Amino acid sequence: MPETTIAHVRYRTVYDSRGIETLEVDVITEKGFGRAAAPFGAPGSRGEFEAPAYARGGLRESMAILEKTVIPSLIGMDAAEQEKIDDLLQRIDGTPNFEKIGGNTAAVLSTAVGAAAADSLKIPLFKWFRRDEGWTLPYPLGNIIGGGAHSLGPAPDMQEHLIVPIGAKTVRQAIEINLRIHDRVGKLLEKKDPGFAGGTDDENAWAANLNDVEALQIIKEAADRISDEEGVAIGMGLDLAADRFWDPAGGVYRYDREGASRTARQQLDFLGELIVRFNLVYVEDGFNSNDYDSFSLLNRNFGDRCLICADDVYASNHERTKTGIGKGSAGAMIIKPNQVGTITGAKRTVSLARSHGMKIILSHRSGETPDDSIAHLSVAWNALMIKTGVKGGERLAKLNELIRIEQDFEGIRLIEWGTASPVNRA
Ligand code: PEP
Ligand code: MG
Repeated sequence: MPETTIAHVRYRTVYDSRGIETLEVDVITEKGFGRAAAPFGAPGSRGEFEAPAYARGGLRESMAILEKTVIPSLIGMDAAEQEKIDDLLQRIDGTPNFEKIGGNTAAVLSTAVGAAAADSLKIPLFKWFRRDEGWTLPYPLGNIIGGGAHSLGPAPDMQEHLIVPIGAKTVRQAIEINLRIHDRVGKLLEKKDPGFAGGTDDENAWAANLNDVEALQIIKEAADRISDEEGVAIGMGLDLAADRFWDPAGGVYRYDREGASRTARQQLDFLGELIVRFNLVYVEDGFNSNDYDSFSLLNRNFGDRCLICADDVYASNHERTKTGIGKGSAGAMIIKPNQVGTITGAKRTVSLARSHGMKIILSHRSGETPDDSIAHLSVAWNALMIKTGVKGGERLAKLNELIRIEQDFEGIRLIEWGTASPVNRA
């Protein structure tokens, strides 16, 4: 029997960083072990088009399906045959978007199978996910000030105010810069806002009583200083997660904290102003997930200086990505394996996006565990960035794994930032 033959699959619930029950799976082969735990997007931030996390009846129903149908089918299969196993999961589910067993259920199984194969063969996970050479380390995209669906109380309307040290030479240096900026912004907030008591959001970004422009101003002040001290260029970015504050009945984006509302046209102008004023290198989900055309306009106008990134709008989904590529809607996309359900499904979307010159960003979810598989996927799939927060054990678990890879494998270096992709603009 090959060492990668699946002998047992065990499952349980554990608690994620929000203290919410989540699914964890162990795959045990003849000679190895793989474990994966599911992350979870926040209600109001999870994409409308991503696979549902669990079966219609919830986590317990997914576990019942695991016990009765999925696990018996996996026993005796070869964990080294990732595609075959992912295909089986898809067939057991029987819907295109894992509506029956859930994207989280499929993603933890698929990931744990990969991890078990790598462990059985005694090779690092990233080398298993991509056999041929050419691995690279991603830039850490750090969330400094949070808002939207990830925070409580008065906070910016946009979900994430981000930084990325585009001039860093090593992943360790980039991680250290992000940590320094996070610290510095905390001190600035303490000085400027008497009500600030060190509160953070779901991803350990600061939750401050600011509007979005004020948040960007404070980050810029901190980033400029650290950039001068370190002699490293630092870019700024945003994830608006705009679905949350899009009002389809009114046809406007409602900025409650700011006390403003903007039509799609005004949103386009506003984002253009922010890109120029703050020299933004990255804008994710600037519009609601049904408005490919506004994405395309923003990408056409600013894609040569700023990565226009699709998260909820493409939802890591092959078909939606294909539509977006046809319209030139984005120069970069977020990949979250549990949005699509399997490693093979995510890889298919990555290949499509990369063949059109798009940049890939592997991403955590707001609810996380110490599972570090996205760090390995980012190395295997040459992601330009990994979005995984700056602080907190569940965020640093991924970043620390990148530090280990950088130390252990001399030839594996930080990917080149290059210029923002002008590719895929209609
Ligand atoms: C995101 O929108 O990029 C994100 C990480 O949020 P969530 O996991 O809550 O969907
Ligand atoms: Mg997002």
